[in-house]
Amino acid sequence: MEVSSMELVLILLVVTAGFVLLVLNFKFRKKTPVKTIRLPVHFKTLLATHVEFYNRLNEIDKPFFEERVQRFLSAIRITGIKTQVDDLDRVLIASSAIIPIFRFPDWEYINLNEVLLYPDSFSESFEFEGSGRNMLGLVGTGPYQNIMILSRQELRNGFADNSSKKNTAIHEFVHLIDKTDGEVDGVPEFLLSKKYIIPWLELVQRKIQQISENQSDINSYGATNKAEFFAVVSEYFFERPDLLQQNHPELYQMLSTIFKQHPQNQAV
Ligand SMILES: [Zn+2]
Repeated sequence: MEVSSMELVLILLVVTAGFVLLVLNFKFRKKTPVKTIRLPVHFKTLLATHVEFYNRLNEIDKPFFEERVQRFLSAIRITGIKTQVDDLDRVLIASSAIIPIFRFPDWEYINLNEVLLYPDSFSESFEFEGSGRNMLGLVGTGPYQNIMILSRQELRNGFADNSSKKNTAIHEFVHLIDKTDGEVDGVPEFLLSKKYIIPWLELVQRKIQQISENQSDINSYGATNKAEFFAVVSEYFFERPDLLQQNHPELYQMLSTIFKQHPQNQAV
């Protein structure tokens, strides 16, 4: 069969048009990625099962908390180092970040890019095998600037026991909040208005003194310095607000002013 030059041109045109359409379709698909804006349903189940703070929120605040968790997870990379990162780890890390700044709706962790999750405790040189491993969480400095390191085991422990006054991940995020003004010094100038700074420092000094004299139920690590005191009592405030209010009403009131919340009574 002979093909005329006109038929040849037509065939070429059809083939070219088909190719162009294929390329356009491919490009179009690439330009419209599917974006998950809402928090996956099973993340909400994880929040309800593992995060007591979330359960204490009222029905108006819960979706807001979910949205903040979603925003955090979209912005911050979470990397497992010789350990797997499950959705539960993601939910717990994001919750630890959001709990302290929940009443600051525009807060973003501008000084954090990535959270590294280690299997368990690690040493000061970031080794997680061998002896001398006593670190459970860390806010990085120098080459580790904008990086937080957490122990996966400790992260899970912090949310497993609702009767303890401990939550290491919240502790580390409070250091990061404290650091926003440039220094981790126990004075969160971004959260605390100037008129409260002197009363806060006086209260801190008094409470550290009580710890040193064994006259306090606050974890003795809080007496290390003002920065550690702020992080330790913040754990206490968010984990056992009822007990802190009972045993240290003045401290409870001051932390409530700093964080703009009453965690034992969020539903009201
Ligand atoms: Zn600390």
